[in-house]
Parts: sequence; C-alpha cells; structure tokens
Amino acid sequence: MTSSSELFKQAQKLLPGGVNSPVRACKSVGCDPLFIEKADGSRMWSVDGQELIDYVMSWGPMMLGHGYQAIKDAAHGAVDMGASYGAPCPGEVALAEEIIKMVPSIEMVRMVNSGTEATMSALRLARGVTGRDKVLKFDGCYHGHSDCFLASAGSGLATFSIPGTPGVPEGTVKDTLLAPYNDLEAVKAVFEKEGKNIAAIIVEPVAGNMGLVLPAEGFLQGLRDLCDEHGALLIFDEVITGFRVTAGGVGPRFGVEADLTTLGKIIGGGFPVGCYGGKKKYMNRISPCGDVYQAGTLSGNPVAMAAGVATLRALQQQDYDALEARTLKLAQDMKAALEANGFKMTLNHIASIFTLFFNGSDVTDFESAKKGDAEIYSSFYRHMREKGVNLAPSSFECTFTSFAHSEEDYEATLEAVRSFKG
Ligand SMILES: *Cc1c(COP(=O)(O)O)cnc(C)c1O
Repeated sequence: MTSSSELFKQAQKLLPGGVNSPVRACKSVGCDPLFIEKADGSRMWSVDGQELIDYVMSWGPMMLGHGYQAIKDAAHGAVDMGASYGAPCPGEVALAEEIIKMVPSIEMVRMVNSGTEATMSALRLARGVTGRDKVLKFDGCYHGHSDCFLASAGSGLATFSIPGTPGVPEGTVKDTLLAPYNDLEAVKAVFEKEGKNIAAIIVEPVAGNMGLVLPAEGFLQGLRDLCDEHGALLIFDEVITGFRVTAGGVGPRFGVEADLTTLGKIIGGGFPVGCYGGKKKYMNRISPCGDVYQAGTLSGNPVAMAAGVATLRALQQQDYDALEARTLKLAQDMKAALEANGFKMTLNHIASIFTLFFNGSDVTDFESAKKGDAEIYSSFYRHMREKGVNLAPSSFECTFTSFAHSEEDYEATLEAVRSFKG
C-alpha cells in the first residue's frame, strides 16, 4: 500500500496542507500525519501497517470504540434502503426521541450536519428570539468555524473583538464579546455595559478546546443567573461533552439547564451529524414553524440517523461511572510516570476526558492553558506515536477514552509513557 509519507506528498498537491481539517496535519507537533487505513475497537492501523492505541477517537465521537457492531449494522441497513431522500424519514424521529429522552433540557431538536452548523444556527435562533445582536463567548472556547465565533480579544477583559483569521469581516465580530473562562466578574462587567444588547452567552460548559478545563464552582449557575436577569439565552455547546460527561451531557451533572444546547460528534456515531435543541417555545421559532430560517439538503440523512440511534441506544446500556474511574486511574498513572521522569504536570479530568498539561500550575482558563510547554508536548506526542499510542496532535486538545479501551491498552500506554525522558 502507498505509505503515509507518499500519500502526504500527493495530498499536499491536492488539498491545502494535505488535509481537510488543519490540526490533522500534525504541524504543531513537528511531524507528518499518519494516513489511517482502518480502525476497530480502541485501535487504528495506519497505511504503513502500524497499529496504534487511539486516544483521539475521531476527536470524541467514537465513544463506543471504532467499528461498534450495532452501529455498523444500522448504517449498512440504512445504506441498503437508499442513501438520501430529501424527504422526512423515520430515523429522524427515532434520533430526536433518543436525544430528548436523554438530555433533560431539550424538548425539541433540529438536525444539521456538523457542530459548526449547530452553533451557528443556535445563535441565529437566540438572536431571532431576543431581537438582539451581541453574543458573549469565552477565550479559548471553540464553537466551530463560523465567522462570528472566530474572534480573539486583545488582552484582558471583554473588549470589542478583532477577527481571529483573515476572511472574517470586522463588522461580523463586532457583535462578539469575550471574557476569560471561569471569570464570572468579567462576565458581570460585560452585562452591566451591554446587557440589553446581548442575545446569548455561548459556552462549553466543560471546555475541551484549550485542553480540558472544568467550570469553577458556581460559574455555570452564575451564567444562568445573568442570562435570566438580562433576558439573554444561555447556550451550552455540548458538541464534545454531550453523551460523554454523562449520558445526558454536562447540564445534569452540574445542575444547570441551558436554554439551547448544541450537539455533534457522538450523536452521529462517526457520521456527520449535529443538532441544536431546547425549549419548545424557542425551537418553535424555527422555520417552517416560525420565522427564523435554517435548512439543510442532507440534514436528517437516513444513514447518519440510523448510526446515531444505534449509538445513543447502546450508550444507555453503558456504565459511565466505571469508565470514569478507569479513565481517572489511567490519567493519574500517566501523570505519576511523567513526574517520576522529572516533568511538572497538571491533570484536568472528568468522565472519559482528560488533559495532561506540561505545566506545574492550575489550568483554569486559556491564559493558564497557554503556559504549558508546547515543545515538550511535541516530543511526547512523537514518542508516544512511535510506541504505538495515538494522542491528539496538539497540546490544546483532550485525551479521550472509550468503552472499548481495555486494561491491556492502559498498561501498554503506561509502558510507553514510562520510557519518555524528554
Ligand atoms: C468540534 C466542536 C465544534 C465544531 O464541530 P464540527 O463538527 O467540527 O463543525 C463546535 N463546538 C465544540 C465544543 C466542538 O468541540
């Protein structure tokens, strides 16, 4: 078979950077990507024949492991019935039912094709409902690549944003307000000034795109209260955390309900699906029921719906507490092994997600996350990959376990960690 390096050479001539999503190019960890031929359970195989224990899990979706039999069967069955109809299909109803059953704050959903579409559409709905334009987001939170979320602030407290990339007009991000994650005082200050113009706060209720960062005690409730006080909607972006932090997402675990929730990744079982949902009184504003327009040619695709239904039904049978305990043990053992080799480490963990920062102090927001040693992480990544362990190719990402990871996987992973000397 053509090798990864051959394929990457070819790919770079045909695709910008050789990839269809930037982080996959492995640029920030100083090596070329592996091309994957197949995956099964906790493992992936590169086209070069290397076997890897996978802790990326397609950036989260493969919660049940790769190639889970019931998902494969459901997808095969659906393909046999035709790939897409452009008309309603039973799978849409079935997946909506499962989501609404599992996520307490969701009464109604709209299916889309990605997390990006979900957040973009949820914000449009919040703007339509409130008649306001501004949105408050947090530094280091990622909500997909639509224009208004690609803003980065200058330093400090929420100022008017500047675009984080060429191609985003200043006019688009002028309505995006920023605050540091976990800084309720900063959010209050923004609301004091702009409260009557803010349509929504959007937040990753457990943040997974600056490495894993947990919400401080009272942070989410504080956001809930501010939204209520000022008539803004609270949007939980649970594209990573939905069906992972608990079978019902982050909301139930922290006792805070969002007005709108965005989901993606896991709900498609590996197929391109996203959705946004929430209270009926808001969701009924979406066309054709209401006046807020949003549509999609392949939305509610029967193959993706079938895979999603199989995924959510299987997840309801799983023991999340056991997986959380096993994941914490793995993370702690990895941390101890790295510390024994002289590295200063910080561990953030919840459920089946963790990040080990090469950073001796607490990581509670984007500023503190950036203090990690990216160079050491790069060599750690390369070392682990050589030893057959696939970690995220960036120090600002999470490590994901799945229900398919075994004690043998963990032992082999630790073995690889122990031999990392920097
Ligand atoms: C991945 C992610 C998105 C974007 O989802 P895509 O399917 O990549 O468009 C949005 N929000 C969060 C929190 C994510 O992790």
